[in-house]
Amino acid sequence: MTVQVGVQSYPLFIDGKRQPAAGGETFEVLNPATGELIANVAKAGEADVEKAVQSARDAFDKTDWKGLPPKERAKRLHAIAHEIKVHAQELVYLETVSSGATVRRAAANDLTLMVDLFKTMAKFVLDYPFSETLPSAPFPGPSHNFVWREPIGVCAAITPWNMPMLIATWKIAPALAMGNTIVIKPASYTPLSTLKLAEIISKVVPPGVINVVTGPGKEIGEALVSHPKVDKVAFTGSTEVGKTIMSLASGTIKNTTLELGGKSPNIILEDADLDLAIPGSLFGVFLHSGQLCESGTRLFVPDKLHDEVVKRLVALTKTLKPGNPLDQATDIGPVISKKQKESILSYIKAGKKEGATLVCGGKELTVPGCEEGHFIEPTIFTDVTNEMTIAREEIFGPVLSVIRYSEVDEVVELANDTIYGLAAGIWTQDVNQAYAVARKLRAGVVWINDWHMLRNDAPFGGYKQSGIGREMGKHSLDAYTQVKHVHTSMVPDLHKRSWYQILFSNSEQGEG
Ligand code: NAD
Repeated sequence: MTVQVGVQSYPLFIDGKRQPAAGGETFEVLNPATGELIANVAKAGEADVEKAVQSARDAFDKTDWKGLPPKERAKRLHAIAHEIKVHAQELVYLETVSSGATVRRAAANDLTLMVDLFKTMAKFVLDYPFSETLPSAPFPGPSHNFVWREPIGVCAAITPWNMPMLIATWKIAPALAMGNTIVIKPASYTPLSTLKLAEIISKVVPPGVINVVTGPGKEIGEALVSHPKVDKVAFTGSTEVGKTIMSLASGTIKNTTLELGGKSPNIILEDADLDLAIPGSLFGVFLHSGQLCESGTRLFVPDKLHDEVVKRLVALTKTLKPGNPLDQATDIGPVISKKQKESILSYIKAGKKEGATLVCGGKELTVPGCEEGHFIEPTIFTDVTNEMTIAREEIFGPVLSVIRYSEVDEVVELANDTIYGLAAGIWTQDVNQAYAVARKLRAGVVWINDWHMLRNDAPFGGYKQSGIGREMGKHSLDAYTQVKHVHTSMVPDLHKRSWYQILFSNSEQGEG
């Protein structure tokens, strides 16, 4: 992989151009694996948000972007997919050095999904019911009725640091597919790949259709979410911030999609194939050092299998190789920051204090060549109860809680006993049992004998406090449209109109 040399400067991306922040300020982006400074990024303020929103507003209101025919729009989406492929190496590099994603995952998973997402959206656009004709109905008499689906307008997208470029595309692709314009605010740890992505996309869309403002969430995130010229908010991040976003968006009644946190239950049933369930469960929790919203952090194991499962989990975890995520041999990369590392370590402390048994990991790690990086050993606790802090709160780090159960009904209840409902998983060889349990789990996705398998044609999102709405799949297009009913009466005679009878029965004309 080509390595960028020296510290780069990244301006904002507004109206199809790179632009410095109005206030001239910048902030630093560090590599979480090495602590090195990799970029100075423009720190936007409210004036920049104003400029970006106005640019998106003008591109929506004053250009023909929103009215492009589906065929042309699909062509543009294919062109974006192509551009992403052309710039794949740079995007993967930026993602790896800023978010700590292993280069193996960013290249094989994230990039592939991003390219495919734009192609999938192009396919959906061609089939999308932009105008539906309703059948005739006895009331209110003969009429032509259409349901039109139209773009919403200016969308504000706010994204987290854990999978920044993939999550940005979950918002950009459906927004553009439906003819909207967008202003994106990435997390301050990881703005680089999103800025690059906007530049790439701007080659095939008019100026102002895609804009990126970088800077603190509290300041510019809030300004964006409450801006009166923004029509829709698409947020991915913590449940706590999601609540603030929802309340800020309510000021102007904005259409809002929220993808929030999780504490996903992963259930091994008694008949599971452990050769699959053990590595699958570890993949479910330790991918990206556990910093994924859908991570399977609560592993429910039947009494009968408990000791064997724990022994095998620990043995396999010890084979995982931590290292610099740019190294192809690395299995486990860093966590995003010193602050995040300390937060994870405090949860590990709480687990021990509340009586869970630490059977693997539990400490910070020093990786040779990455001494200034933020690494934590993949950690496993047993003797966890569903009431403990480590089983209730989202740790967002490589920490697995193993919880015992004896009956299937009991485990379903425990699995659902959480404020979250993003993902769930079941390991079994009995497909009927799998579907019966899947029906009872209150989660937006249920994986059977698998984990993390997101598809661009399948919806993703949460039940309960894991969010509102769905991304990807056809459902995501609906979330970026307004629905308009258009009615044309075909009743020629005034007196036969139903409304005339209702209001004008006493008028002269009514009598006539
Ligand atoms: P976060 O909520 O701290 O920040 C997310 C984004 O919101 C960032 O861009 C941040 O700058 C911005 N922000 C912060 N405060 C804001 C405010 N007051 N107003 C507007 N914007 C504000 O989340 P994070 O730490 O970046 O990411 C981790 C969280 O994201 C975890 O909880 C994880 O579960 C969640 N997540 C969810 C999904 C999903 O699809 N459900 C996917 C990935 C991550």
